Amino acid sequence: MPLEQPVMIITGASRGIGAACARLAARRGYAVCINYREREAPAQAVADAIRADGGTAMVVQADVADDAQVIALFARVQQEWGRLDGLINNAGVLERQMRVEDMDAARVNRILATNVTGPLVCAREAIRLMAPRHGGQGGVIVNVSSAAARLGSAGEYVDYAASKGALDTFTIGLSREVAADQIRVNAVRPGFIYTEMHALGGEPGRVDRLKDSIPLQRGGTPEEVAGAVMWFFSDEAGYTTGSFIEVSGGR
Ligand code: NAP
Repeated sequence: MPLEQPVMIITGASRGIGAACARLAARRGYAVCINYREREAPAQAVADAIRADGGTAMVVQADVADDAQVIALFARVQQEWGRLDGLINNAGVLERQMRVEDMDAARVNRILATNVTGPLVCAREAIRLMAPRHGGQGGVIVNVSSAAARLGSAGEYVDYAASKGALDTFTIGLSREVAADQIRVNAVRPGFIYTEMHALGGEPGRVDRLKDSIPLQRGGTPEEVAGAVMWFFSDEAGYTTGSFIEVSGGR
């Protein structure tokens, strides 16, 4: 028997923006599948907190850059909960700050595999469960892009920015492709948000260094991004697809 409450998969939900989305989605009545790649303990902690609050959560390890692992992730949710109503393509990576002239192809391919191929294959699996053609009830996909798609991240990680540009174009194309399947596809573009991601670039204090360049004069919180993401799942967003929300403090 399918679960009575709606079901959502959130990739990379063990910390940061993904964890904030999981907590808010659970409060809004979704059973949430918390995906992570490497570190299980923080993912379990997010699920434990949701359950302690009366919500429903499961934790599933999968590297979104690996097709077979993505297939297993969605199969597990279908097997245990029998339905899928939403996907947040949140998992994303960057690597150490450097100029393009110092990048090698292996690094660029790692970024693209997680930030572009990952969301695409996750969306593919979601469509196969959500489209009425395949026996589903329709649904919503939200891609977590970045203001970097507009700004380009010169001198830091142009490869990452370009991957988010690709994710934006994917959002537009997919939204039109699956609109008749009752699936809406949108994206948010966060700016400088306080998470552990900046440490991957080699500068944990990056948001504080740059905050004076932000019109609102401060970095954002994962919860502020989650609020925008979850708006796309609301009834108020029922006529919105192929659209973007900037969560970047005016930048
Ligand atoms: P974060 O704190 O570094 O968290 C990243 C999450 O993604 C972790 O749960 C990590 O799990 C998971 N992950 C990484 N690679 C994965 C993979 N291949 N498969 C599955 N899970 C994977 O990052 P964040 O700042 O919350 O960023 C979330 C999203 O927001 C990303 O797409 C990022 O590009 C975007 N964004 C962030 C900012 C910002 O300022 N923070 C700004 C704009 C956009 P493990 O630890 O287990 O690997």
